[in-house]
Amino acid sequence: LEERARSCLLRFRHRLEQDIKPSYLMDHMISDGVMTVDEEEKIRTKPTRKDQSAALLELLLMKDNRAYISFYNSLIKESYDDLAHLLREDLPSIFCEAHKSSSDSATSYVQTVLSEGGVPQRPVVFVSRPELVNRVREKLYWLQKDPGWVTVFGMAGSGKSVLTAEAVRHHGLIEDCFPGGIHWLAIGQLDKPDLLVKMQSLCFRLEQSLDSQTLSRPPNSLDEAKERLRFLMLRRYPRSLLILDDIWDSTVLKAFDIHCRILLTTRNRSLTDSVSGAKYEVGVQSGLDENKGLEILALYTKMKPHGLPEEARSIVRECKGSPLVVSLIGALLKDNPNRWCYYLRQLQQKQFKRIRKSSSYDYDALDQAMAASIEVLPDEHRELYKDLTVRFCHMIPVLSVLWDLEPEEVEDILQEFVDKSLLFVDSHHKPYLYYLHDLQLDFLVEQNRTQLESLHSKVVRQYQQHYRDGPPTSGDEECLYWIRFLTYHMAKANLSQELYSLMFSLDWVSTKSQIMGPAHLINDYVEYGSILDKEVMRSQFQEFLSQNGHQLEERPFPDVVQLALSQPHNSEVYRQARLQAQDRTSTG
Ligand code: ADP
Repeated sequence: LEERARSCLLRFRHRLEQDIKPSYLMDHMISDGVMTVDEEEKIRTKPTRKDQSAALLELLLMKDNRAYISFYNSLIKESYDDLAHLLREDLPSIFCEAHKSSSDSATSYVQTVLSEGGVPQRPVVFVSRPELVNRVREKLYWLQKDPGWVTVFGMAGSGKSVLTAEAVRHHGLIEDCFPGGIHWLAIGQLDKPDLLVKMQSLCFRLEQSLDSQTLSRPPNSLDEAKERLRFLMLRRYPRSLLILDDIWDSTVLKAFDIHCRILLTTRNRSLTDSVSGAKYEVGVQSGLDENKGLEILALYTKMKPHGLPEEARSIVRECKGSPLVVSLIGALLKDNPNRWCYYLRQLQQKQFKRIRKSSSYDYDALDQAMAASIEVLPDEHRELYKDLTVRFCHMIPVLSVLWDLEPEEVEDILQEFVDKSLLFVDSHHKPYLYYLHDLQLDFLVEQNRTQLESLHSKVVRQYQQHYRDGPPTSGDEECLYWIRFLTYHMAKANLSQELYSLMFSLDWVSTKSQIMGPAHLINDYVEYGSILDKEVMRSQFQEFLSQNGHQLEERPFPDVVQLALSQPHNSEVYRQARLQAQDRTSTG
């Protein structure tokens, strides 16, 4: 136990002995693993409560920092706020913000580690939640020696991601527990092919930063990706932390069950039941308390918290302390500082009430806040915001094709959305990454349900317009996007004719397998098989890909026409190859 903590305990020993109920506190300490059942038994045998308290403190003095912190946290959990306050000052250094990170070099060390790992920065308007941050750090400390899982769970929009990023923004923690780095991966709701893409990009990121000369080809299946990652984490990134943000599904978690150190955020507390290893959890169950909510409104409106109008308190209450919703309202008030009363009324009117999939969250406040924020956008931007309903495309170059605008113009528009909290930006990444909160996407999908088809259709039309002379092949992010998702948009837009001509074209097959490998193509045929409705042709193409999978992964990339010429002569693949071969000979 640190000297300061020890002296603090000794100073307040009598107060503590007077007031605490050891049995309750010991329950928490046992579940935190800092105290054994035997030790508890010994203390329980003492005759009076006060004797028990004295014995507990005696024991604590002989234990380490973690035990002290666990004791402090259990005081908070049992609502001994004033006692906890006494100990707060001298909490051991890992939990004391200013301690190690006070010097500049330390701060820039933390900055570097976090930005290399893609950990998002603080939101511009930010309030601290020290109790929760400490609890997360405390659990992370358990991963110091051994691999394991820390689950941060709670409602959507309750601030889990922000909290997690804050918890790892700490010099001592990184140095002591994760000197191998901290790697952030945004997951969200996704299917298997998307998961594969995420894992591929993680492997790519990890391999790239090793400065290794030979970048291996991306893993082709989930199993392969898992093995690659296992190797990377074990051999190249020992003692590092992987953060998986917003997990919905235990199949995702299984793909990361590779005996490493993982923190995940989720709404579903029991996800880690399906994986192996040590497990710890932190609940973000309650919203912001009222004062923190007020603080957010004050920061947005540049006022002092005690100078806020009386509606402020009611607004925070209507938002049920949801940081997401309070932020939306705060952003509105920043632009319209006279509308406290108006926005409060909007929040209170529940005329848009809808039945929702999830009952775990009160969506009304979010709906009202979103509706109000969208309302104040200029007409033409409101239309553009609607386009974001279509998942996956929140990237400047892609939006620039979709909206037919210069990248700079796109950036300005997105910035406007960001200013209104209608969109979030991660400015760590170059180019910037933009994303909607899940609940916002949910809202947009709900609101534009009848227009989904035409929204996707717009994406396809704009692509076709822009790439009249053939698909992009540069291999940059934008190119990857189109090659990967064009079929998806066509399918969602119900453009079966377009999908058909694309997927049964040898040119497309060649381009896509060159850029993404054959696995993605095969996956397309399986996924859109029912739409394509041409069993024979589909199996000819699939057959071709599976037979030549190995060659198609080789670099330099083989001549696809040559490969296709060895297909059976009644196959469509052969027919197209032959045409192209004839074309070649005639043009010399
Ligand atoms: P979750 O991961 O639980 O769904 P997030 O962490 O993404 O929620 O938070 C949602 C939004 O709420 C953030 O984008 C931000 O605007 C706001 N928010 C969350 N935590 C804070 C905080 N500590 N201070 C200010 N705003 C916050």
